Amino acid sequence: MPSLQSVTVLGATGSIGTSALDVIARHPGRLRASVLAAGRNVDALLALCRAHRPDHAAIADPDGYPALRDGLAAAGLPTQAHAGMDAITDLAAGDACQTVVAAIVGAAGLDSTLAAARAGKRLLLANKESLVLAGELLMAAARDGGACIVPIDSEHNAIFQCLPAEATADLRRIVLTASGGPFRGHDRTQLADVTPAQAIAHPKWSMGPKISVDSATLMNKGLEVIEAHHLFGLPGERIDVLVHPQSLVHSLVEFIDGSTLAQLGLPDMRTALAVGFGWPRRIESGVAGLDLLAHGRLDFEPPDTVAFPCLRLAYAALEAGGTAPATLNAANEVAVSSFLQGRIGFLSIPALVEQTLAALPAAPAASLDALRDADIRARECATQLSSRITAT
Ligand code: NDP
Ligand code: MG
Repeated sequence: MPSLQSVTVLGATGSIGTSALDVIARHPGRLRASVLAAGRNVDALLALCRAHRPDHAAIADPDGYPALRDGLAAAGLPTQAHAGMDAITDLAAGDACQTVVAAIVGAAGLDSTLAAARAGKRLLLANKESLVLAGELLMAAARDGGACIVPIDSEHNAIFQCLPAEATADLRRIVLTASGGPFRGHDRTQLADVTPAQAIAHPKWSMGPKISVDSATLMNKGLEVIEAHHLFGLPGERIDVLVHPQSLVHSLVEFIDGSTLAQLGLPDMRTALAVGFGWPRRIESGVAGLDLLAHGRLDFEPPDTVAFPCLRLAYAALEAGGTAPATLNAANEVAVSSFLQGRIGFLSIPALVEQTLAALPAAPAASLDALRDADIRARECATQLSSRITAT
């Protein structure tokens, strides 16, 4: 009988958080949600507390504290209420859990993810932006702290499953698959007028709004190239991208002997999360097996970096190194948020990112402070550029 694993779910109210809690609830003797954390949605967090009865619940927005505390008391729950990012970071590193699901969206997830890595947790890492922003520091923190990182991003989880540690030196390249998003096949003229509602209607995956827009611009794949560089120690030229619209092959690993291994499955994040909780064993995830006859075909095509320049910009930022990936990520977060608020058009997303990268050339990034500074400066720059577009 495996021992009970206590789990902190950061970003519990989101798409990954919901999938993680679904898997946890399938294994009452093995997994237990001991800490739930969210950004500002107190009602959704309270509903999760009623269902999962964690020891601690934390809301990042301090204004949410009274409603969280009173809601927990009114429900008669023993759950302790906390508020603020520092409280979330302390809980991620503290004794209340052995395992942390890092599923906050954006750079806001960096501190808690880093803290979990330093504290030597089993780290189910979905928050790819923290790796893009501070990949070297995060990987070093995990090494020093003895943390086991299991990537949850489906592509990286696929590579993790296909790549035994002793074979890392024998890799030729990895190939990340991409669905192509809702606008696959569109040219720039067709992309000019697409709406946020169209952009977040992903054909294969059900995800939060930010990553859905990233998938539509192909920035998601660009962030994933940088993420793969840090997780698997490969340079950009050995990380390829293939568009695979069926989203059944989650990624491929090619070894020096010409052998290619791929991981396949239905597009449902619960598989990756179950791998994270159970590894090296396999546990039930609630996801059905793959019936290839029912699906019939697997298609592959090259990405279109003319219509979707974000992928090219991400490769260039990886190549430039230093603060460039942090700048790329921050500019993208600002641009996606402006697009979702209807303030800029879809094509302005890559334009804003490119202009921010041009305005803030890469500098060395030896410390966390240097990276945070680059993140702040890129946000300021992209916000200014965005208001100029809005004003015209
Ligand atoms: P969602 O938008 O669905 O959820 C985001 C979660 O983060 C919510 O719980 C939200 O809380 C919380 N949050 C937002 N801001 C803060 C903050 N400042 N402090 C604390 N919590 C905060 O996102 P997803 O679940 O789609 O994505 C989460 C991460 O996982 C992203 O990094 C994404 O790239 C990655 N990922 C997601 C995949 C997916 O299938 N969805 C696939 C691969 C990776 P609240 O509800 O209160 O706002
Ligand atoms: Mg992915």
